[in-house]
Amino acid sequence: MKLQTQGLIIKETNVGENDKLLVILTRDHGILRAFADGARRMKGKNSAATSLFCYGDFSLYKGKDTYKVTDVTPIELFFDLRYNLEALSLAQYFCEIVLKVTPEDFEPADYLRVILNSLHLLLKGNKPIAQIKAVTELRLISLAGFMPNLVNCADCNNMQNKKILFSLADGSLYCADCVNGKEETVVINNTVLAAMRHIVYSPFKQIFSFQIPDKDLKYLSKITEQYVERQSEFHFKTLDFYKSLTKNL
Ligand SMILES: [Zn+2]
Repeated sequence: MKLQTQGLIIKETNVGENDKLLVILTRDHGILRAFADGARRMKGKNSAATSLFCYGDFSLYKGKDTYKVTDVTPIELFFDLRYNLEALSLAQYFCEIVLKVTPEDFEPADYLRVILNSLHLLLKGNKPIAQIKAVTELRLISLAGFMPNLVNCADCNNMQNKKILFSLADGSLYCADCVNGKEETVVINNTVLAAMRHIVYSPFKQIFSFQIPDKDLKYLSKITEQYVERQSEFHFKTLDFYKSLTKNL
């Protein structure tokens, strides 16, 4: 059976001397694992078309148990990510999140939209990298079914003029009066809360469009990272690597 779909390669593994096993986040068929025979013999553009971060039109053949890539027409290779180690490691981390936290009945087009936007922004370099990280983390984990409830204190519905805390364990807000006995809470200020609300509740097109002072951004990025780790119950090695490059974050 033949399939035609747009997709982004989110993982590549070498197989034997010449072949690759690709994991493709496709627009129409979710996440597919497909062999690209002879991919390692190819050079230049052809090789890039079967490499990590290639977004393209894929022609696939479905065999008995496996898929094979029969043709790829690249739309965007994101090749220049390779010249910026910080951006590259973050892009790999985003792919790892998709691999780990995707529920079975997910809507691949939404994931694809978030991650393609993130990769474009990482390439452009005109947004703080920690902001791209925080937005992608929080929006992806929300799509995965762990959308936090950032409307009001989950217990009393009144946070006015009170200290606000966010629970990494249940994704709820609590005011200082209600926080007793709640697990894994961290204090957040109004700037960080406004940014989190923006990321979770805005239409896709706007999720990256906000400004936040550096010190708040650092804190936001820490919280979104901890929330992803807590909800996915997974420790991301790609994140460790990114953090080793940006020790100040
Ligand atoms: Zn309360």
